[in-house]
Amino acid sequence: MRLLVVEDEDSIATPLADGLRRAGFEVERVATGAAALAAPEPDLVLLDLRLPDMDGYAVARKLRARSRVPIIMVTARGEEVDRVVGLEIGADDYVVKPFGLRELVARINAVLRRVGDGAPDDAPDEHRAGPLVVSMRTHRVTISGKEVHLTPREFDILAMLIADPGAVVGRDDLLRRLWGTTWAVQTKAIDVHVSSLRRKLGDPAWVETVRGVGFRLGAPGG
Ligand code: CA
Repeated sequence: MRLLVVEDEDSIATPLADGLRRAGFEVERVATGAAALAAPEPDLVLLDLRLPDMDGYAVARKLRARSRVPIIMVTARGEEVDRVVGLEIGADDYVVKPFGLRELVARINAVLRRVGDGAPDDAPDEHRAGPLVVSMRTHRVTISGKEVHLTPREFDILAMLIADPGAVVGRDDLLRRLWGTTWAVQTKAIDVHVSSLRRKLGDPAWVETVRGVGFRLGAPGG
C-alpha cells in the first residue's frame, strides 16, 4: 500500500514517515499542496490542513474532483468546524494532532478496508424507500430522481440504514462497520456525518435518532 504524506513540518513528517514504513507501508512524503497534486496517485492520502502554499481543503477538493482516493485529514486539536468542512469535501476520516502511530495505522487500515469492500455479490443492487433510491453498485443516491451527492462515509451510513429499513442500527455497529473500531473519540464523528447526511437529504426525518441506541431510516412526512 502506497501512502502519500502531505506535511510541511519535518519534525512531524520524518518520524511519521519512518513509523509508517516500519508498519509496512510505502511512503512518499511531500511538503506542499502543489507537490501533493503533482504526485502519482497513492492508495491513500494523509493530508495536513495547514500547508505553506494552499490549505488542505483546497488540496482535498482538487484530489476529490479527479479521484476517489481515500483521504485522511490531519487537524489540530479543537478545529471542530474545519472537520465538518473536511468531511463534506469528501475526506474519509480525520485524525487530530497529536496522535499515536498505532491509532493512525488502525485508522488507515479501517479506511482502506472500507474502501476495498464492495457490496457482496448476492446483495441487491438497489434499495428504495419512498422517493429515496440508493444504488449500491454505483453509489448513486437520488430523491424523486434528483441526485444527492454524498461523501463516501455519508453514503456508507445511508447504505447501512436503507439495507434494513425500520431496523435500528446501533452506534457501535456503525463504528465497527465503518471505522473498524468503537473508540469514543469517533462517536462524535458519526454525529458529524449524520447531520451532514440529513442536510443533504433535505429533511432530517430521513435519519431518526433512537436515543441511547443509534439510528434508523425514517420516512419524511409519514
Ligand atoms: Ca502544517
